[in-house]
Amino acid sequence: MNDFIMQMRPWFGVEEQTALYDYMGSDVFVTEFKKTEQFESMLADFTGARQCVVVNNGTISLTLAALVAGIGPGDEVIVPNYTMIATPNSVKMLGAEPVFVDVEAATLCLDIEKVRKAITPKTKAIMLVSANGRFPLAGIEAFTSLAKQQGLFLIEDAAQSLGSYYPDGRHIGLAGDVGSFSFSAPKIISTGQGGCLVTNDEGLAARIRKMKDFGRESGGSDIHDEIGYNFKFTDIQACIGIEQMKKLRDRIVRKKEIASLYQKLLKDTPQVRLFDHDFRFTCPWFIDALVEDRENLKRHLKEKGVGSRDMYSPINQQKAYQKPGSYPVSEKVGRDGLWLPSYTQLTDAEISRVCDAVSQFYGTRI
Ligand SMILES: *Cc1c(COP(=O)(O)O)cnc(C)c1O
Repeated sequence: MNDFIMQMRPWFGVEEQTALYDYMGSDVFVTEFKKTEQFESMLADFTGARQCVVVNNGTISLTLAALVAGIGPGDEVIVPNYTMIATPNSVKMLGAEPVFVDVEAATLCLDIEKVRKAITPKTKAIMLVSANGRFPLAGIEAFTSLAKQQGLFLIEDAAQSLGSYYPDGRHIGLAGDVGSFSFSAPKIISTGQGGCLVTNDEGLAARIRKMKDFGRESGGSDIHDEIGYNFKFTDIQACIGIEQMKKLRDRIVRKKEIASLYQKLLKDTPQVRLFDHDFRFTCPWFIDALVEDRENLKRHLKEKGVGSRDMYSPINQQKAYQKPGSYPVSEKVGRDGLWLPSYTQLTDAEISRVCDAVSQFYGTRI
């Protein structure tokens, strides 16, 4: 009853256990092969992508996307100032410069007007992060046309968006040139580490496959006409991923139920402003909110056995970057943003316990 409710937890079951046991019982290489192909085709089917390529994580997937876009030293890539630090770091690795742009208050996705102002002759790409499965108010078309008009590569960092769609029915990640997902522990499905790229461009997918495999001309050969890397997956991870994919549809339903239960239970607690979601399109990955008196709320929740986590602070202020500039929305999130317990296996009773603790702190009604 009084077990600590963590903010996030991956969810594996006996299915993953059995799949791994069975796989290891056969004569296997463990390196990526049939299981990886199966996992890729499940992801392609689910998202409606023509091609899916899995890689070792959801940061390298972004680096790989930027690499095949021809991004290198001296180039600029527009990224949101509110995101996981992996987004800018992924291009920093190639010697390119991330340019931070503030996000919209309602969605925490890139503000297109600010993106327009940040474009310079050095800009090569935009990394659009669909924060928590949301998309920009301006609409995705505004971004695809801006990218086209300016000759920019549009990379969708859809790491938080598996199970979320654009209003035109396309899965998030498929509107730009290439979309990236992550299967790290907090994500809706996990393989421990892992990531993938999806695209409808066959030529681009072929280049991605080549670059993640040492630049090999063809699988298994040692003929290289350009420099590539080793960003490969393993069939062990794929065994887990295949079982996780089988559970994805149910998880999407549950994630939406969890978010609506929080909305219902906290509707009379104005000190906690949950972000709005249109559940027809968005599967909220985490329960995100702007809260009053965040530090004391966190302390109170912890005493009550409830975990929480600060939302990302403005990247330009991170010691790793220290770039000047005024970013009112990401700065506000950095001060007041809090994630409440969000994992898929949360029970209704646990959500009530979390919301009771929150309303008790503010002295509001539940
Ligand atoms: C999780 C996440 C990543 C990084 O993925 P890893 O698999 O942990 O490398 C990148 N971008 C966003 C927006 C994320 O949420």
